[in-house]
Amino acid sequence: MYFLNNVINYSKIMRIARFNVEKESIEYEEITKGSKFYLLGARGLTSQIVHDEIPPLADPLGEENKLIIANGLLTGSPFPNSGRTSVGAKSPLTNGIKEANVGGRPAMMLAFHDIRALVLEGKSASLKLIVIDDEGIKFESAEIYKGFGNYELHSNLREKYGENVGIYSIGPAGEFLMKAASVAANDLEGYPSRHAARGGLGAVMGSKGIKAIVIIPTKSSKVKLHDIKKFREISKPFAKNLAETKRNFSIYGTPNMVRGMSVLGGLPTKNFRMGSFDKAMEISGERLHELVIARKGRKQVSCSPTCVIKCSNIILDEDGNHLTSSFEYETIFANGSNLLIDNIDNVAKIDHLCDDAGIDTIEFGVTMGVAMDCGEVAWGDAETVFKILGEIKKGSDKGKLYGNGVCYLGEKLNAKRIPQVKGQGISGYEPRVFKAMSVTFATSPMGADHTAGAAIAGRTSRSDKDYGELTENEGKLELSYELQIYTAILDSMGCCYFIGPSFENMNIIAGAVNAMYDTNLSRIDVINIGKKIIQTELEFNEKAGLTQDSNDFPSFFRETPSNPLDLKVSFTKEEFKNFWKRIEEPLE
Ligand code: SF4
Repeated sequence: MYFLNNVINYSKIMRIARFNVEKESIEYEEITKGSKFYLLGARGLTSQIVHDEIPPLADPLGEENKLIIANGLLTGSPFPNSGRTSVGAKSPLTNGIKEANVGGRPAMMLAFHDIRALVLEGKSASLKLIVIDDEGIKFESAEIYKGFGNYELHSNLREKYGENVGIYSIGPAGEFLMKAASVAANDLEGYPSRHAARGGLGAVMGSKGIKAIVIIPTKSSKVKLHDIKKFREISKPFAKNLAETKRNFSIYGTPNMVRGMSVLGGLPTKNFRMGSFDKAMEISGERLHELVIARKGRKQVSCSPTCVIKCSNIILDEDGNHLTSSFEYETIFANGSNLLIDNIDNVAKIDHLCDDAGIDTIEFGVTMGVAMDCGEVAWGDAETVFKILGEIKKGSDKGKLYGNGVCYLGEKLNAKRIPQVKGQGISGYEPRVFKAMSVTFATSPMGADHTAGAAIAGRTSRSDKDYGELTENEGKLELSYELQIYTAILDSMGCCYFIGPSFENMNIIAGAVNAMYDTNLSRIDVINIGKKIIQTELEFNEKAGLTQDSNDFPSFFRETPSNPLDLKVSFTKEEFKNFWKRIEEPLE
């Protein structure tokens, strides 16, 4: 299906397709050497377009905002784990710039159609589909799919357009313009389990009136590689090394972190009141592994073509029916320990219902944590959580109360503990404990987003440096800074960050880009591309009113120590505020 052997050997950059969703017009823009989008892919491209073309004070759900869906500079090549899509816009959740990236089928399929990005402009009152095939691109009515959950929608679209289509879509949460709505992508098995979840980008797609984008496989790939031999000399040993060194991670995947994080005192529990969960083993990677084996589900699943790490999974229920796929640590934290739900099947069902409604599992779980903390729902009450997700799917007033993010609900309930930064719920890493992660949460232009510079236990950004103990400040400003820059680069390549946002890997990236595009980039050139992306994002945020003063946590993270480790957020507000000042300096 993916024609990796069909890549042809000459150099040419791809196209951007721009849509006026109201007039149903389409314009193509070639990316050529010397154009301002040259050598920008995925996050690099989404952030540049947001910066250049969206008024910073625009209403995120209004006509002036744009939704950009872009694949990476290496997407379409056989480079390992390079099949990701970035979705970008001004975020309705943070009111700043947003990029969320996602695996799945469609990124590679767009590249094979010679498309680097889709830009949705304007606003449509009626619900539409965009269909891409070898004949071109067309709009179709999607009114018959109004209110469809992602599972039913994808099943209908596959039936109509073929089993092998790639799909980006929104669920009802996006149609109802909820600020925690996600953009779904179908995985290699066809399930809508992959989500560009953070920042409410599904609501922006909903505001454009686009229910789904369907990509029908092209008969032959239009991806071009300048020097295939050189490209393979770089990418093949890298892929082999990743497959060997990440084998354990492949078997257990991200849920394997649950037990370790609880032992380390950094698993947010009970709306971030505790860092350890006494029932952690019930929702752990080990428990999940047992269930998957017993029920004949699947582990070591790739979420997108070219992935060699294969950290994903397919989870079946007791009767052997599909329950969910891509069941990740962050979903388990947000809807398990954070809500004191200790039954792994219930957490998996929440994951399924979130994917179906098209809502971010992290934002939703953090929102529910605040509701439980305020006494609106009993701790551990999974049945009520299922019902609330049903209300989100229906778009009722109650659903809207829970589907617009943690700050929206927290303000309505006058909550005292709202775990957020820049309006976005904090992910599954207790910031009082994990010091480098606290820096990433506070300073990322994306709000509290762990993926922006994931300083998880054991991760460094270069092998010859010592960044100190996990729970101490020493070295952590530097670690987060480097990880955020290298991650911006991987995001722009369309690469999953599990390949490693490291100084060492920047050389490999430079070599792969040079072989693909006939360029002569050094490692430092590549690093400078990453720095430029972040500068662009910071500049947009500044003009949108999301200044460096907003780099901070709610006061309870500074005033109340974590339990059981007795730690507080320990960087000063000034340190967070001045964090990006060094971005003009060379990175040694
Ligand atoms: S390592 Fe995991 S998240 Fe990354 S591309 Fe592979 S399956 Fe997807």
